Amino acid sequence: MARYIGPVCRLCRREGMKLFLKGERCYGPKCAVSEEKKRNFPPGQHGQARKPKIVGYGLQLREKQKTKRYFGLGEGQFRNLFEKAVTTKGITGEVMLQMLERRLDNAVYRIGFATSRAGARQLVRHGHVHVNGRKVNIPSFQVKAGDEVTIRDKSKENPAVLSAREATAHLPSPSWLEIDRENLKARVIGNPKREELVQINMTEQLIVELYSK
Ligand code: SF4
Repeated sequence: MARYIGPVCRLCRREGMKLFLKGERCYGPKCAVSEEKKRNFPPGQHGQARKPKIVGYGLQLREKQKTKRYFGLGEGQFRNLFEKAVTTKGITGEVMLQMLERRLDNAVYRIGFATSRAGARQLVRHGHVHVNGRKVNIPSFQVKAGDEVTIRDKSKENPAVLSAREATAHLPSPSWLEIDRENLKARVIGNPKREELVQINMTEQLIVELYSK
């Protein structure tokens, strides 16, 4: 699967907002789009040129790119997930966001086992994460109510996991997860609610419109 491995801060600069792709750095003064850094302009040679007004298709495209990058997905994966959301009962945009939120790599990030989704994805890929006592190394795995997500016993002293637990202690816990930080485990207790689905402004309807053309 093709995956973006270039500099991620330029993705935030392109969208003109924090996408929280770099863990702890995103909350500090070194963030490229923070007030202190003042690099809140698009990357590239013409980044500081006068901004054209974005309307119609451009708006829809930016919304899709932003969402895709926020969750760390490639175009193909994102499109597949959207197609699944279309065939699932409910409001397509909301179902899509819920499916993104219930991905195992996102759940691991939300629980606080990693400081970024990329870090969470690596934990999953490397087999450090168990769901209901069994290893699951598929980042796109969808967790559901009743599932228990844990760090496997062998990795409970992993310095990266322990430091992530400390670093994310200040972040609010989502209501759909019951988190036991001490024992590095969490239980899924419901479906993610729309209002707490994302840390950034997102208009999912624009993505639905874009893919429905
Ligand atoms: Fe970089 Fe994180 Fe700031 Fe984005 S939010 S610009 S990834 S430090």
